[in-house]
Amino acid sequence: MAKIAVLERKCTGCGACAGACPFGAIDMKEGKPDLNAACKVCGICVKTCPEKAIIKLETKVDSVDKSKWRDILVFAEVSGGRLHPVSLELIGKARQLAAPIGFQVKAVLVGENAGSFAEELRHYGVSQIAVYDDPALSFFRADAYAACVEDYIKFAHPSVVLVGATSLGRSLAPRLATRFHTGLTADCTKLELRENTDLVQIRPAFGGNIMAQIITTNTRPQFATVRYKVMDAPVRQAEAAGDILNRPLPKAVLASKVTCVSVQPVPPKQSISDAEILVVGGRGLQKEADLEMVKELARLLGGDWAVSRPLVEKGWASNDRQIGLSGRTVRPRLIITCGVSGAIQFAACMNGSDHIVSINLDPDAPIFQVAHVAIVGDLYQVLPRLISQLKEERA
Ligand SMILES: Cc1cc2nc3c(=O)[nH]c(=O)nc-3n(C[C@H](O)[C@H](O)[C@H](O)COP(=O)(O)OP(=O)(O)OC[C@H]3O[C@@H](n4cnc5c(N)ncnc54)[C@H](O)[C@@H]3O)c2cc1C
Repeated sequence: MAKIAVLERKCTGCGACAGACPFGAIDMKEGKPDLNAACKVCGICVKTCPEKAIIKLETKVDSVDKSKWRDILVFAEVSGGRLHPVSLELIGKARQLAAPIGFQVKAVLVGENAGSFAEELRHYGVSQIAVYDDPALSFFRADAYAACVEDYIKFAHPSVVLVGATSLGRSLAPRLATRFHTGLTADCTKLELRENTDLVQIRPAFGGNIMAQIITTNTRPQFATVRYKVMDAPVRQAEAAGDILNRPLPKAVLASKVTCVSVQPVPPKQSISDAEILVVGGRGLQKEADLEMVKELARLLGGDWAVSRPLVEKGWASNDRQIGLSGRTVRPRLIITCGVSGAIQFAACMNGSDHIVSINLDPDAPIFQVAHVAIVGDLYQVLPRLISQLKEERA
């Protein structure tokens, strides 16, 4: 850690530092430089000051004893009376990360009747399953759920905690990270674990133009959220293993400041993330009515339809049909993109699909770098032919 300090007795108030700062982080106040929150400690002001009145101070940071934090904990989410499938995907990733450095994978279940899923988790290579099962946890209250997971973290000292980037997980993980004064990286697309137990949390940044590698070097545990359908779920093992640890309810749960007034279940909605076959329309479509071709092909294939972001912006589809960084991540068995260029913000969220077929006029379109089958052509010719051929076969 470093910070910038101004030696007032040496400073002449010339303002050279303020002029040189690329971040506009220096205001001249009463003839002296005053650093604001935009300072990135780049040190340009230090080099610019003719009087050497600005210095960079390196401060020593207390480092955690990493050897006291072991294993990987997965928050196994139970919501709507089911174990969310992202929980198994996280367990699969956790096992891959844990094995090379001799860590174990543990899971924590929270909720009324959450304990009923513990036995099933024993088939996925988890060494311990902690259960907080109580009527007081009958619906998600962030403070109460955080109190339970906090309790188990204090008991088990995991080095890494993985949480699904679901609505529930996105509310829970930041609260937990704050309680432990530690780091959290949201929406990781890739995770690696170094020998020194630092978790390399990889995710797109700056609008998807770079893949940032984020490391929590001085604190533990390390929190990461991962979207559904980004990691592979492990195969269920025939034999069950691992202890089930029923934990007493932490007192903080009963002191929750959230009261449930009523519960109105939202009818379950089909999500494009669950589709096995997807046909996707992009800006290559000239008008809204042409989206019908995409929908018809999807129908004939027994799949669902989705879009790239520009079509949502035009109001042709709702946001829950958008694939991409600001939409959903998908991993179907078959995806057919029609008139989609394949910008990184789109491609990063569908390139794990089993079979990618792309139709585009431009042979150099980036989508062809991830496609398994490239159809260089006009979607207005290709789609009607595909549709009529499928109809003929059905007939
Ligand atoms: C922070 C940020 C987040 C973003 N999040 C998302 C996101 O979640 N999802 C998303 O999709 N985008 C997202 N974007 C936008 C993204 O960068 C692209 O602009 C967008 O994906 C482009 O959509 P498109 O491929 O449909 O359109 P275009 O890039 O305009 O591509 C249209 C393609 O259609 C082809 N084409 C044209 N006519 C035909 C035809 N007749 N037949 C066949 N092909 C044809 C063209 O050759 C072209 O390749 C994001 C951008 C930013 C900065």
